[in-house]
Formats: sequence, C-alpha cells, structure tokens
Amino acid sequence: MVTGANVLQRWLPTGGGLRDEDWAGRHRLMTRLLAGCLVALTFYGALRDELSGGSLPTWLVLLVLPCVLAAALLPGRRLPSIFVAFGFTVACAAFVAMTHGQTEAHFTFFIAVAALALYRDWAPFGVFLAGTTAHHAIFGIFDAGLTYGHHSAQKHPLFWAVVHGVAVLLAATFQVVAWRLTEAEERRAQENLDESEAQLTVAFEETPVPMAIFSPDGRVLRINKAYRAWLRLPEELPAGLLVTDLPIELADPAAPRLFDQLTVQDGSSINVRQYRRKDTGETLWVEVHGTNLHDRHGNLRLIFVHCLDVTASRRHQEELQDQVRHDALTGLLSRSAFEDDLAVLLAGAEPVNVIYLDVDRFKSVNDGSGHAAGDELLRGLATRLAATVPAGALVARLGGDEFVVALSGSPRTGTRVGQAILAAFAEPLEVGDGHLQVAVSLGLAAGESPEQADETVLAADTAMYAAKRAGGNRLQIFSDDMRVRVRERIAAEARLREALAGDLSETLPIWFQPIVAAGTGFVVGAEALVRMRTPQGELLSPFHFIPAAEETGMIVPLGEHVLRLAVRHLVEWGEHLGYMSVNVSPRQLAEPDFVPMLADLLAAYPALDPSRLVIEITETALLSSSVDVRERLETLKSLGVRIALDDFGTGYSSLTWLQSVPADVVKLDRSFVAGLAADPRKASIIQAVLWLARSLSMSVIAEGVEDPADWDALRELDCPSGQGYLFGKPAPAAEFGDRLTKTLQQV
Ligand code: C2E
Ligand code: CA
Ligand code: CA
Repeated sequence: MVTGANVLQRWLPTGGGLRDEDWAGRHRLMTRLLAGCLVALTFYGALRDELSGGSLPTWLVLLVLPCVLAAALLPGRRLPSIFVAFGFTVACAAFVAMTHGQTEAHFTFFIAVAALALYRDWAPFGVFLAGTTAHHAIFGIFDAGLTYGHHSAQKHPLFWAVVHGVAVLLAATFQVVAWRLTEAEERRAQENLDESEAQLTVAFEETPVPMAIFSPDGRVLRINKAYRAWLRLPEELPAGLLVTDLPIELADPAAPRLFDQLTVQDGSSINVRQYRRKDTGETLWVEVHGTNLHDRHGNLRLIFVHCLDVTASRRHQEELQDQVRHDALTGLLSRSAFEDDLAVLLAGAEPVNVIYLDVDRFKSVNDGSGHAAGDELLRGLATRLAATVPAGALVARLGGDEFVVALSGSPRTGTRVGQAILAAFAEPLEVGDGHLQVAVSLGLAAGESPEQADETVLAADTAMYAAKRAGGNRLQIFSDDMRVRVRERIAAEARLREALAGDLSETLPIWFQPIVAAGTGFVVGAEALVRMRTPQGELLSPFHFIPAAEETGMIVPLGEHVLRLAVRHLVEWGEHLGYMSVNVSPRQLAEPDFVPMLADLLAAYPALDPSRLVIEITETALLSSSVDVRERLETLKSLGVRIALDDFGTGYSSLTWLQSVPADVVKLDRSFVAGLAADPRKASIIQAVLWLARSLSMSVIAEGVEDPADWDALRELDCPSGQGYLFGKPAPAAEFGDRLTKTLQQV
C-alpha cells in the first residue's frame, strides 16, 4: 500500500552517501564557520555592549563554545554534525537577541540552514529546523522583545514561531531538492560504474590469457584465473605479494629485469623472454605485453600485463631452424647453413680452404642398387667424411652426391686434408650386407674474405669438375686459368639475370634455323635457338649463357619464354611450316611445373596440332637427370607433342639404348656429319643409326650440314632430313618468316 509516508520517503533524500574524506572536509568547513560566528558574535556583542554578565546574549554566546568543541572533538558523524546544527541555532538566536529581535537578523537562520544542507544528512538539518522553531516559540513567549522586531509577533509568539519555522523550511526546500537530485544522479552513475566494473571483471577474469595488474612498487594487485592456472597459484593471494614472490624468474639472471623495464617504459611494450619456473626448473618462453596506466598528473599508477606462453611455437621455430640448418639425410650442414657459417669462417684472420667433393659414377650405384642403398651410401660417406676432417671444419651436403668441406689454415693444410679424404675412401664403405668401393673427385680452392664466399665455392666446384674430367678419384687444386673461367661464369650469370628482368623479346630474341626434307629440299621444320642481346647491343650465342642458366635455375623462366615465342611463331607461320623444334634442358624437364605449363600453353591454341611441336632433349639429359625422365617423356608425349633426341652420338649411348627411349626423332650430331663424304667409318655408323631408327619408326635429322658433298652422301644413305648452314643459318623471326612466305621454300 502506498502511504503518504512512503511517497514522502520516495521523494525526500535519504541522506548520507558522502565518502568519509568528503564528509570530513565539509564538517571541517562547518566547524570553522561556527567558530568564526562565535568570534564575530563576541566582537559584535562587545561592540554593542550586549555582553554584560547574565544577559541572554551572553549565555547564548557562551553556549556556542562547547558546540564548537564537541563538533571538533567528538568521533563519528552524527553527533558532531548535530552539535554544529545546534551551535548554529544558538548563534543565530544570540544574534537575534543582540539586535533585539530585528527582523533582518532572522535572515541568519536562512543562511545557516542552507549551509547545513552540506551535510546531506537529515539529523543536523532536522535539529536545526526543530531548534529554530523551538527558539522562536520559547524565546517569543519568555522574552518577545529580544526575539521579534514587530508588535504582532511579540503578541502571538507561537504562531510566528511556526511561520518562521515554515519559512526556514521553505528556504531550505531547494537545498533539499538539489540534495535529492544529486543523490539520484549519483546512484545512477554508481549503477553504471558497477555495471562496467562487472563487465570488466568478467572480461579480466574469464579471458584465457594470463593477465595481472601490478603497482609500480612491485605489488601484485590483481591476477586473473588464467594467470593463476598458468603459474599454479592459489585462489586467494597472500596480501602484499610482490612480483619477485611469483614462482617464475628470468632464465638468464644477467638479463635486465623485465619489471624494472616495464616501469620505465612509456605507454606499452612487448618483450619475449625466457623464464624458469622456480618450482620445477622448467624453462618457458613468454611474450609479455605491458601497458602503463598513469594518473592525471602523469604519475605511474598501475602496470597492466598480459603474458602469452609462446614456448610451443618457439620450440617449433627452433626445430624448423635446426631442420633448415641440417641436411635431413646425413645430418651434415645444409647448403644455406654452410653458406652462413662459411662467411663467418672467412671473416677470420686465416685463409679458408674449401674442398668440393663429388662421388664418381654415383648415378650408376643409385640406379643399380636402388635408392635405399644410395641413401645409405650417402650416409656412410657423410660419416666417413666428418670423421676424416679436422675438428672445427664445416662439412655440408649441398644436394645429390655433392659435399663440401671448409676449414681455416694454409693452402698446405687444405691439400693435406684433401689427400686424407681421398685416402679415407680407398677403403670400401659398408652398404646393406655388403661393401661398396666408391671413388671421389675433389676440388680445392682458397678464399680470404667473406665477399669471396660464393667465388671460392664455385672455384672448388670448378676444380672438382677438372678432377672429374681427368678421370676422377683425384684431388685438383684450383688454378689461375680456371679462375678466368669462373669469373666469366659469374659475369654470365649477372648478364642473364639482367636480361631476364628486361623486355624478353628484346634481350632474349629467338632465332630460327630451317630443317629441310632430303627428297624435296623444302623447309619442313625449324629449330628455335635463343640469343642474348647485351645492353651494349652485342648478340651472344647460347654457349655463353645456357650453362649459367642451367646452373642457377634461370633456365626455367628462360625456357618458358622460348617455348611461348616458338609456339606463337609456329601458329603464325601456319601451313608454311611443318613443325617447330624447341630445345629443353634437363633442369627444365626435371621441373614439376614443366608439363602443366606446356599443357596450358597448348590449350591456349586449340587449333594447333600438338604433334607440330617437337621437344629436343639431349642424350646427356636422359642419363644424368635425377627425376625419372622416361616417365616424364611419356607424360609429355601424352600431350601429343613429339620428342627429338638431340646431339645423338655424343653421349655414352649405344645404339641399342635407342630402343628404350620414347623418342620420335633422332638428331645426328654434327661431329658425325662433318666430313662424312670422305670417311667411310662415319658413313657406316650413320647407316646403322638410320637403319635402327627406321625399324623403330623414328625419323632422323642430320645436323650441321655445311658441305654439299656431305649432304649428297647423306641422301645417298637415305637420311630423310637435314639441318645446317648449307640450308640456312639461324635467322631472326622476321627474316625467317619472310623466307617462308615470300620466297620459294625450296633451297
Ligand atoms: P643445338 O641444339 O645442337 O643447336 C644447333 C646448334 O648448331 C646451333 O647453335 C646452330 O646455330 C648450330 N649450327 C647449325 N647448323 C650448323 C652448321 O652447319 N655448322 C655449324 N658449325 N653449326 C651449325 P647455337 O644456336 O649457338 O646453339 C647452341 C646450343 O645452345 C644448341 O645446340 C642448344 O643445345 C643450345 N640452345 C640453343 N637455344 C636453346 C634454348 O632455347 N634452350 C636450351 N635449353 N638450349 C638452347
Ligand atoms: Ca637442338
Ligand atoms: Ca644438336
């Protein structure tokens, strides 16, 4: 039931709500005000001669003094404030009495009630209202002359006491309203604050990231659930717990203390450090995000941190780094790690010897005994190599069967170690159940500064090739004339890189050489041959850049460019040209993307008969490549293109080997063709090849035909087609196109 009292209660302020220090400030002000009144009344009374002994004003002024003392000395809030209210009532009454009830003197009651509203408490407020009414009534009855300044009031003091009481209350009404409104506003603000505080607490407590709040002097103020779980801390923290009491410390005691750093940091910071758990000794990596909170005056108040345990990802990263540094098969250094460490070694005072090692005829071991045996052989090799070189030497596997050793010391030391390695491999290696005798070719070169790292390895590699060419199983020391070749190769590489970065049709133009049919003399096909145009306008033959392109892998983009352009011209020249022959290097063929790239290229020209594209592969490519070339050739053929075996006769291949290659065309090497007319032995070889090719349904092209007599001899032997300067040198596309379309195709 809503009663009047309820309504009143709802509409009146409840009082209180001041914080202790705020209340104390207001009370101090009121007490001093009261003391001031006491002093002022004493002076005023003395001045007006109203303070003669025993007079009412004297007693009243004297009564203010204990009120001031009680207000200043009593503990708590209520009693002191009541004394202040009472003191003000008495002081106002004293003032009224001194003025003999002058109406204006009553204004002081209005001032005092406004001042007392500062307490925001009904007790002093009520005491003052009651006191004022009581004073007017009692004093009005007993000494109306000293209480009221006009006749009517002096006659009806009780009535005027009520009038004054109500007037004072009305004067205080707006104080009460203001007081009540402030209370309501504060309550709402508090509710909002409570709500956001609650939200923040949930966010802080429930996030899965360990979070903590520290004070600048290192006390742990607050930690969340995740933090407790992470450091296995109890629910309740002991009071005054310090950062240094936490069960975790920096793994490196010499490292600058993170907390000290956090406190000097402005704004926020991120640190990744290694820590150790004090209880288990276990180490962990922690990423600490710190945020400093300052007060209005810029003083550091709180340090807010959240800690991410990044141990797992760090370990993973370290493992990866380790994997990158080591060759998975042998455990020796990887190429990139070797390059890094070699640069460090070369930065030292002593010269550095680099020994390049390659196993002689490794491929035959690998093919003959299987890959597992090949792997075991490589592991055995690595172990023996590592055991032979002196401590401190770098030993790496660069890939395949190529190893490299680097060690500081004089050239004599290098030679001695090289010979020791050679000697170490005189003993057979254990592979599987048996033993395997391997021979190695070694190249030795020396370098002196980190800038020479690549050059030294390349020099050792070059020397190793020289050892191989000289029959293998030996140590070759890098010589000055090799140096010239190495420099040339480095220059070629740089040139090639530049050319590939430029406008390819300008820097790497494709020329075309005709292939003619023996019977008719018509141009039936063309071989696309790449050239390089240097910035100086010089035109370079492929011999100057194809080897470098192969070695560096730049042959892949280069070869793709040749293929694209060649196919474009094949389509352009249409019926004027039977087929286009394009050279593809072993490295290109080994690229897993090669077949898909070619398939895409052909798909771009749906009208083109793919058999008009011939892919030329050298015999050596078939012999040396690491991927299963035969399989790759079969997939190529499934695209419909034809395969030509280039430079046939220069490799180790025997005639019978031809049967096992899925080729459509055999290109007889120039060395067989030149001087054929005068050499019956060459003629018989060619005859045998032609016969075999025919029986395998392969076509034959004789390369390097310069001499009409040789061409006659070839036709005599029934060679179906030829290519050579006799029919035309390689020419730029425009010139070759003109020849195809404008002049007769016959030679
Ligand atoms: P190749 O495939 O054996 O190409 C035939 C080479 O013999 C061409 O040299 C050609 O100009 C030359 N030649 C043709 N007829 C005669 C002749 O009657 N007498 C003499 N003395 N030489 C003749 P070129 O263009 O300098 O190419 C050299 C080699 O470079 C090519 O040998 C081929 O192996 C390689 N090559 C050329 N273009 C490319 C290419 O785009 N990609 C790849 N991977 N290799 C290429
Ligand atoms: Ca060729
Ligand atoms: Ca050739």
